[in-house]
Amino acid sequence: MFLKSYYGIKPVIPRLLQLAIRRIRACVKLRTHADVWPIDEKTAIPPKDWTGWPDGKKFAFVLTHDVDTAKGQERTRHMADLERELGFTALYNFVPERYPVQEELRNYLTENGFEVGVHGLNHDGKYYNSRAIFRERALKINRYIKDWGSVGFRSPSMLHNLAWLHDLEIQYDSSTFDTDPFEPQPDGVGTIYPFWVPSGNGKAGYVEIPYTLPQDFTLFVLMRQRNIDIWKRKLDWIASKGGMALVLTHPDYVNPENGRNGPEEYPLKFYSDLLKYVQQKHRGEYYHALPKDLAKFYSENHENG
Ligand SMILES: [Zn+2]
Repeated sequence: MFLKSYYGIKPVIPRLLQLAIRRIRACVKLRTHADVWPIDEKTAIPPKDWTGWPDGKKFAFVLTHDVDTAKGQERTRHMADLERELGFTALYNFVPERYPVQEELRNYLTENGFEVGVHGLNHDGKYYNSRAIFRERALKINRYIKDWGSVGFRSPSMLHNLAWLHDLEIQYDSSTFDTDPFEPQPDGVGTIYPFWVPSGNGKAGYVEIPYTLPQDFTLFVLMRQRNIDIWKRKLDWIASKGGMALVLTHPDYVNPENGRNGPEEYPLKFYSDLLKYVQQKHRGEYYHALPKDLAKFYSENHENG
């Protein structure tokens, strides 16, 4: 109920006021949810049929980005180049009907070993308001998935209804999280592993891959953290449990000059520090994969229909 009313009035509330309201709510939740965020110990139980990561690696390390705006798209290439220089690869999700998604950029990414995915249609909060709306949008989303050669999807604002996602022609979805009380739809899936979502209607199922490191927006914009200590702590914990460390950041909020232009930006250095940290502290221990490859690995080894 709250969700519908919030998204109903959201367009008329100025952005900075929205941010102030969200910051107050985050402060309260930080105190009331300290036992389940950033770490919920209950999420570390491996799936029943779990046989471990490829090549005997200890944990998985996956990088994903949601490019929410045209500004984020302008910053995408710089971010991807940084990842490439450090020896990483990542998924970039674009919003097909919110800004003109550049074909040249999509090609640049895929030609250089990155992955491109679909992030809703226009990034409003109405996808799950009714079954009819979702069905109608799914038809359009499927066209972009096909045109872009994508196999995965992520909902705007992490809204989710896993049963409805069978409308999409996907091999995986990544619209959920292990634990994140700061999200508008805060029900986490309670695991730091991928899992299979069977369709039950004769269609193929798909792999769900939740994000497991707190989002950049939550840490650096809402909570105004000035370091990456929470990322490091969660990463080390996931590594110790053998789970999947899945990072979700937004080029929209990253200041490429390492400054902070306004209340909604954080320095690119925070992100590169995370990449260097995993390389130094966990060298040789992690399975670094694109979501599409991780989903393939999981469905080949664990698909139980
Ligand atoms: Zn988004």
